[in-house]
Amino acid sequence: GSAVEHEGKLFVISGPSGAGKGTICKEVLDEGRNIKMSVSMTTRAPRVGEIDKIHYNFVDRDSFERLIEEDGFIEYADVYGNLYGTPKKDVLGWMEQGIDVILEIDVQGAMQVRQSYPSGIFIFILPPSIEELRKRIEARGSETRETMARRRGMAMEEISSIGRYDYRVINDDLKSAIGKVRAIITAEQCRLDAAEAEMIVNRYKEEL
Ligand code: 5GP
Repeated sequence: GSAVEHEGKLFVISGPSGAGKGTICKEVLDEGRNIKMSVSMTTRAPRVGEIDKIHYNFVDRDSFERLIEEDGFIEYADVYGNLYGTPKKDVLGWMEQGIDVILEIDVQGAMQVRQSYPSGIFIFILPPSIEELRKRIEARGSETRETMARRRGMAMEEISSIGRYDYRVINDDLKSAIGKVRAIITAEQCRLDAAEAEMIVNRYKEEL
């Protein structure tokens, strides 16, 4: 058999809205061989162009709360009035099969994952500059000053948590940002810990 066999790794990607997380994740997946992305459950309404079960699993509050009671989430959070969560089912199954998993979630959720899966890898995506982030926040639709201020506050709240992440990638150029995230994933897939080192030695001893 192959020299290395282990559980899939869990990659958690966060960053303020407008940093380009979604685009980066999609590209990383398209080229990844052994990596999948979890589809989150949410109580927020679908936006134009969003497809149920592809972008999110859109549910009502009752269904979401039922899954909370059944302990069915790896993490969940209230993001400005809507619930978002990562169901356990797919993610744990994939990891068991040795498939790596990407979660694109907010910082509250990411910190819950850190508690339950300390071996997760936490990546923060930053927009190229403060001006660019402001532009992206202001460009997002017909906004009142109030909702724009709220968006700015949300972005600042996310950025304030950057110290709890393992890696940061600045999305100044999409291609190079994708390359960096991929490099982080590749490096982490090659990371060795004591348990794995011992397992490798034992397998070589048995089979060589
Ligand atoms: P949006 O409504 O713009 O799609 O997402 C709002 C925020 O919720 C983003 O920061 C996104 O990363 C986060 N989010 C999406 N899915 C999940 C999830 O399953 N859990 C948590 N904690 N946050 C999520």
